[in-house]
Amino acid sequence: MIGIITAPENHARLSRYLQIQKQLADPRGRSPKEIDALIAQAKTVVLINCSLHADEVGAAQMSMLLAHRLCSDTSTTVRKILREVICLLVPAHNPDGQLMVTNWYRNNVGTPFERAPLPRLYQKYTGHDNNRDWFMFTQQETRLTVEKIHQVYHPHITVDMHEMGKSGARFFVPPYLDPIEPNVDPILVGLLGALGNYVTATMTAEGKSGVVNNAIFDGWSPSRAYPHFHGGIRFLTEAAGVDFATPVTLAKDKLQSGLNYNVARATSNFPKPWEGGEWRLRDIIDYDFSAAMAVLQHAADNREFWVRSCARVQQNAISHSGAPQAFGIPAQQTDLEALYDLLETLHTGGVEIHQAHEDFAAHGVLFKRNDFIIWAAQPYGAFARAMLSNTAYPDIRMANGARRRPYDAMAHHLSSFLGVQVNLINDPLNIKARRVSQIERPPGVVEKSSTGRYILSGATRATYMAVNELLQRNVKCFWSLGAGESNNGFVIAPDVQIAALQEISEKTGARFQTLSADDHAMSLYELHLPRIGIYQSWVPASDEGWTRWVLEGCAFGFTSLHDDDVRAGNLQARFDVIILPDQETRSIIDGHSPESMPALYAGGLGEAGVSALKGFVQKGGTLVAINRACAMPIEKFLLPVGTRSESDSSHKQLEASGIVRRVFLQSDKSAHPLAFGAHEEEAVMFWNSPFLNAANSTAILRFAASDSAIAPPGELTGPAQQTLLELSYGSGRVILFAFQPVFRAQFRRTYKYLFNSIFYAAARPLTAPTTSE
Ligand SMILES: [Zn+2]
Repeated sequence: MIGIITAPENHARLSRYLQIQKQLADPRGRSPKEIDALIAQAKTVVLINCSLHADEVGAAQMSMLLAHRLCSDTSTTVRKILREVICLLVPAHNPDGQLMVTNWYRNNVGTPFERAPLPRLYQKYTGHDNNRDWFMFTQQETRLTVEKIHQVYHPHITVDMHEMGKSGARFFVPPYLDPIEPNVDPILVGLLGALGNYVTATMTAEGKSGVVNNAIFDGWSPSRAYPHFHGGIRFLTEAAGVDFATPVTLAKDKLQSGLNYNVARATSNFPKPWEGGEWRLRDIIDYDFSAAMAVLQHAADNREFWVRSCARVQQNAISHSGAPQAFGIPAQQTDLEALYDLLETLHTGGVEIHQAHEDFAAHGVLFKRNDFIIWAAQPYGAFARAMLSNTAYPDIRMANGARRRPYDAMAHHLSSFLGVQVNLINDPLNIKARRVSQIERPPGVVEKSSTGRYILSGATRATYMAVNELLQRNVKCFWSLGAGESNNGFVIAPDVQIAALQEISEKTGARFQTLSADDHAMSLYELHLPRIGIYQSWVPASDEGWTRWVLEGCAFGFTSLHDDDVRAGNLQARFDVIILPDQETRSIIDGHSPESMPALYAGGLGEAGVSALKGFVQKGGTLVAINRACAMPIEKFLLPVGTRSESDSSHKQLEASGIVRRVFLQSDKSAHPLAFGAHEEEAVMFWNSPFLNAANSTAILRFAASDSAIAPPGELTGPAQQTLLELSYGSGRVILFAFQPVFRAQFRRTYKYLFNSIFYAAARPLTAPTTSE
């Protein structure tokens, strides 16, 4: 829901204002005089987005107060705001999350569990990661905000209201800490500073202490900042939190400093420290309200400044002259699905895409007719440059000499996330090309088979989805591995109805190709519909939600397993594979303490759960542990795997840094089921990831002896590390992922390893596998 709040005469001309916004966002072909005329007529557009994170309830509560004030106050200040500003108010970005949080809290108020956190993700799939989705646009809320608000109203200012930790500053506003992503127009960087200082000054003048700027949050990752690449600013505010609506009390000497400010010392970016005491939901509402009003006032008092500055950003964008000038993306790629993912992402982000009319050479590369061209000089060229340029995270040192980690991930580049070849073209490119108006994926295909046999050979989502569809219809499928490339894949039983294949290829986009008769697999498996359990802790983990989202999207059926379900045992009767998503062992084993949580949600797997999982694997099940969850079976099953300690300095250095690391397929493992679709050299998302070394395991992927990260340039050296490995345990196996295979549904090139491990768990070998020595 969105409320549009402005003066009645502006409401009457709203469509004209939207037209002006559109014209200023794409000023191509307009004279300076025309642009001046548009600027003179335009209003400042301010989007106030409340409580994107549903457990940060203050802004949503504030929103009605703000709406009431704007609609009822007849003061000169408010009248001016209504006259000069079009305010777009989203009272709750994640309304179903708000309901979950509200109901949870209401049930606990007045009980010992009044402060207990919500034991599930408040956004069904992404939880807190719902504001890490602003470049891949996977979730409904993201898409609706982008397509129905940003691309229609082109706000100059997007106020994004959050809550942060309880014990530091009371309120954060921009400017952000460095680094700022280098493709953000410097005008926007200046605007963030100008507005941030104004809001700091206004709130301080009102007597509000503890307001900090230029601290804690940086301006690096586009995953949190759509506006910065689309001609406006993202004005993040973060109020110190409370426990939902229950106040907290903090003694002055217990307050904690944060990055770039000292909580006890007045500095230029923290003019008035907070003295401690009680902090209530009402305080958050007051601070949020004050910040929102200050932004609106600045927007009203400086209407022309805002409109002209943001118009200049768009003029800069269309006349961009630096390198690169364009990106050339070959239409022929190893993974076409990934290519179309990349194109669709850019297209959703408003980037114009062209296809070459003729073959051409640029930057020492020969391009073909129909290859894709993205010119850097275009309205949303900054988005394209940020997503395609592969800019390295800069080396910023803190006072103690340590490298400053980004607030979020270091890497965000589509070419490495998706595995698509993108070429930078630094010189001006003048070739004939046609604009692509819609991204149309190549349709699924059922080839005319000369042998009467079919195979799905690419490790794409479409392939896995099609196999699931086939297995759900009881069509027999076999996994052929170690044959020549075209005969590696999922072989369909010969008695299949062609009509069924056609229906599935239309639905999924899968390519059913001819299986040639003469190339034999080294390993052949009969597939069964995998029975999948996904562990869902009462300590919610975003990776668990993302994993469900990705599996649902690829037609995998699964069951979510809570602690009780696991502890009940006899898991082998119900499941072939159980997935432990990325989560710390302590949360998995111990969960919430019984003092902090209603009994139903207290405790974790415990020893009974561990022993049930052990029994499951010993009797033939497959346990897949993702990233930090690897520590659980390693520790509790006593697996012979060495892990580097958490305190290891190189581990600390990389922890939480979100880098892309280059890995290699073990040359003798190319016919292993886990390696299906793997290239000799691959890349993985390294994020809070463990370092693993196992003596008696089948390692599928490993880092090089002297590692290199793809982006940013490598900084890690050390012994070879195993990245994806299989260990036998009883009659079953444990598969360890020392990376996040579905990382936020962004790092899609590694989905296949998770899907392979699932099919592998339910596959029966027909020929003796020759892959493990
Ligand atoms: Zn938040």
